[in-house]
Amino acid sequence: MAKKLTGMDIFKLLPKTNCGECGVATCMAFAMKLAQKNAELSQCPYASDEAKKVIGAASEPPIRLVKIGMGGRCVSVGNETVMFRHDKTFVHQAALAVQVDDTLPQDEIIRLASDLESYAIVRVGETLRVDMLCVNNASGDIQKFKDAIQAASGHFKGALILKSQSAKNLIECSKAIMDRAPLLHAITNGNLGELAPFSLKSKLPVCVCAVTIDEAYTLTDKLIGMGQRDIVIDVAAGNAAAMVQNNTVVRKAAIAGAVKPMGFPVINFVTGRASEGETIADASSLLCKYASILVIDRIEKETLLPLVMLRQNIFTDPQKPIQVDAGIYKIGEPAPDAPLVVTTNFSLTYFIVSGELENAGVPVHLAIVDAEGMSVLTAWAARKFNGEKIGAFLKSKDVDRQFASRKIIIPGYVASISGELEEAMPGWEVLVGPQEASDIAPFMKKLAK
Ligand code: SF4
Repeated sequence: MAKKLTGMDIFKLLPKTNCGECGVATCMAFAMKLAQKNAELSQCPYASDEAKKVIGAASEPPIRLVKIGMGGRCVSVGNETVMFRHDKTFVHQAALAVQVDDTLPQDEIIRLASDLESYAIVRVGETLRVDMLCVNNASGDIQKFKDAIQAASGHFKGALILKSQSAKNLIECSKAIMDRAPLLHAITNGNLGELAPFSLKSKLPVCVCAVTIDEAYTLTDKLIGMGQRDIVIDVAAGNAAAMVQNNTVVRKAAIAGAVKPMGFPVINFVTGRASEGETIADASSLLCKYASILVIDRIEKETLLPLVMLRQNIFTDPQKPIQVDAGIYKIGEPAPDAPLVVTTNFSLTYFIVSGELENAGVPVHLAIVDAEGMSVLTAWAARKFNGEKIGAFLKSKDVDRQFASRKIIIPGYVASISGELEEAMPGWEVLVGPQEASDIAPFMKKLAK
């Protein structure tokens, strides 16, 4: 296990010239940032070989980054450094996979793969989709497995998981899609000698499948000794509570205990559940704690939607509000005398307000003010969304010359800034809009009459 270095340990290894090229004023400040894992040693161009060796080993993330697949749809999991999102951030969102069995007819596998490929939900400016497809050798038959892989991989372009209890089937069938770099499930105590050398030679990532955490530890330790680093851990358990418990123990061992054989992403299978509700409930618990790859066996939109939305909420970086670019956007085809609606650049605010304005069917100009990604009330409290700031932004957009309506509509929650905005925008009338987004459409329709 690499020794945890303090800021002072790191400082002793830095050049101590305080040149500032790393982005902070002194080597000491940079050392402190390195100790908190808020900087990378590569930011210092003068780090010695010894510093690279010692600090590099100590600053490796406690959970290894594992990449599955190739090209733009490659899935990255792991690289995590904290137990809780509020400690810092989660680095990679859990990958969502759907399992298809090779016992299904070929045309059904093609239909499922095509449906998964086309599944995409746009929410607050992000496209949410299913990342992986898991082909399960449920039949145990090598030819059926091969055919299912061919059918699925031809119609789904994301990353693939090949799952079989037969090492021979995995080895033979993965050869046809080596260019897709699939994840092999799984190495066990029984097939370690057969599958591990193949995965190493072919540079394919592998799962270890164990019944207990101790067994998983022993397997990953052996694999590390053989030179395999691209490992995903599967500690099989019969119910979601046990899976959450196992995930938590693995995560804690890796992050708090720096136990190297536990420092890998985790895969969970939520399959064979009696109902859609049970699938959603179990999968949701595991998304929260701490699945890196979550495999389900349902493709209904009503199952996928809550999961991709929950995942988006959990894995959004709390330190970086999702924001849209400041500017003046057209809603519909507004004439120059259409009113100007003002709000902040918090993504959720933008998408809700623009959606409600579209629903109203009244063309307007929507002015999005840079409030550092904060929502209306938070931005107002932080003095990022007041009369002075909005006025300065609108003037920078030359609204006096661009627009003829002379009407600005502000969110109802910041009615108190109407006076200061009128002072900042002489000649413009400031109207106070509704507090709730759901009241925007009736408000706009009434205004247009
Ligand atoms: Fe010190 Fe390196 Fe930063 Fe310069 S770039 S201040 S030498 S840590």
